[in-house]
Amino acid sequence: MSEENSILISQLNDFVFCPVSIYFHALYGNLDKTLYQGAAQIDGTHAHQAIDNKRYSSRKNVLQGIDVYSDELNIRGKIDVFDVDSGVLTERKNKIVRIYDGYVFQLYAQYYALTEMGYTVKKIRFHSMSDNKNYDIKLPSEDTEMDKKFKSVIKAMKEFNMESFHQTNIEKCRNCIYYPACDRSLYVD
Ligand code: SF4
Repeated sequence: MSEENSILISQLNDFVFCPVSIYFHALYGNLDKTLYQGAAQIDGTHAHQAIDNKRYSSRKNVLQGIDVYSDELNIRGKIDVFDVDSGVLTERKNKIVRIYDGYVFQLYAQYYALTEMGYTVKKIRFHSMSDNKNYDIKLPSEDTEMDKKFKSVIKAMKEFNMESFHQTNIEKCRNCIYYPACDRSLYVD
């Protein structure tokens, strides 16, 4: 698979929620975000601005916001913060209420990419910025069930065909910011 067909790490959570949302995310991602984002999501965007602007740390042994890739899984994207010395990979989010599988898959993807690039990742975790809490996540080798789920999502993304996709869960549409624009939405208000 070529680089332009590779899976973006940032799309994993969208795909798990609904594959169609990737299309809308890409579409609206180029517009003014205030047009379509709720307050919680805007807060989340701000959480990453320090990383995007590379302001998190000037220590040389901390990698921040760098591009990573895995040829084996054909995935690419960015990591948030990786401390090379301690081997701790951290993904910061503004406020974590629940750890969704899609979040864990993003960390797994970052873990696999860093490992393939030659780094030793010893610990993976989320950091919830608003309440200053850390959430340690087991490494893929320590949670084989989750690792299997992750690999099956990667496979499903590679094989996904938008034409034949039908949403079956109205609750997802009800909670989806894209439902007014989505012709697959099961929810109409
Ligand atoms: S409205 Fe429903 S089908 Fe459309 S993107 Fe959202 S969750 Fe998916």
